[in-house]
Amino acid sequence: MLIGGHVSPAGGLVKAFHRGVERDCDAIQIFNQSPRAWRLQHYRPDDVEEFRRLLAGGPVRAIVLHAIYLINPASKDETVRRKSLEALAHALRVGDQVGAHGVVVHPGSQVGEPLDESIDRVGEAIRIVLSESERCPLLLENTAGAGGTIGRSFDELARLIELGGGDPRLGICLDSCHMFAMGFEVCTADELSGTIERCIEVVGAERLGCVHVNDSKASFGSNRDRHAPLGEGEMGREALAAFYSEPRFEDLPVIFEGPGLEGRGAALADIEIARGLREEGLRARGLAR
Ligand SMILES: [Zn+2]
Ligand SMILES: [Zn+2]
Repeated sequence: MLIGGHVSPAGGLVKAFHRGVERDCDAIQIFNQSPRAWRLQHYRPDDVEEFRRLLAGGPVRAIVLHAIYLINPASKDETVRRKSLEALAHALRVGDQVGAHGVVVHPGSQVGEPLDESIDRVGEAIRIVLSESERCPLLLENTAGAGGTIGRSFDELARLIELGGGDPRLGICLDSCHMFAMGFEVCTADELSGTIERCIEVVGAERLGCVHVNDSKASFGSNRDRHAPLGEGEMGREALAAFYSEPRFEDLPVIFEGPGLEGRGAALADIEIARGLREEGLRARGLAR
């Protein structure tokens, strides 16, 4: 398991790598550009080259890019759609350059439009952005199900993959907080195992690309996406420990996004908690070394 945290890319990729090292991360996640603006960000070639050299040597061994939240490939609005496709294709090309494990994206929102048509638009958008980039996987994140957000169930994620052409580059990112808020049974190791079993039946084991482990400020089934620091929310240590020890997540980046204990991004103290939760989870499963 590549345990990691979401870090800032301020100052470039090499800086982000070192933030990961300082936080004892095996993997990092960054927004590939400012999440509040459409402006595309390009990393300097020397920064990319040095970053790839560092990544090959570790201890941070994987990078996940998070696409910006403004992206909505389900939108009917031509301007939003054009900007969304441009930003998403750009994120995938940056992913190609830096050797990213994948680009995580929230699949979009219906904004009052019928679900089927919205999903069709996302599927078409996926095919376009994949054709405009080379290699980097595109990972569709499950949502908490608030107000028309698409990707709330395994069936919806599977449908998006199918409409996206079923390309081997397509996968999913499961977020623990979103699953809990959506009412998935994830509160013990047994519950989580059963839920992941169903996920694999519907979506396919090879599609599991990344995991976000966040605690939830909002209650079970509330459909509200409110992250809490690990162990400070409604999910409980047993659930979080189950995520950090789930055997089918063993080869994946498992990212804590935050906010952390200090109320900001992931800090060293948060990653220490994550590693403690992993030990607890492995012991509870009888898998401790
Ligand atoms: Zn997430
Ligand atoms: Zn979230």
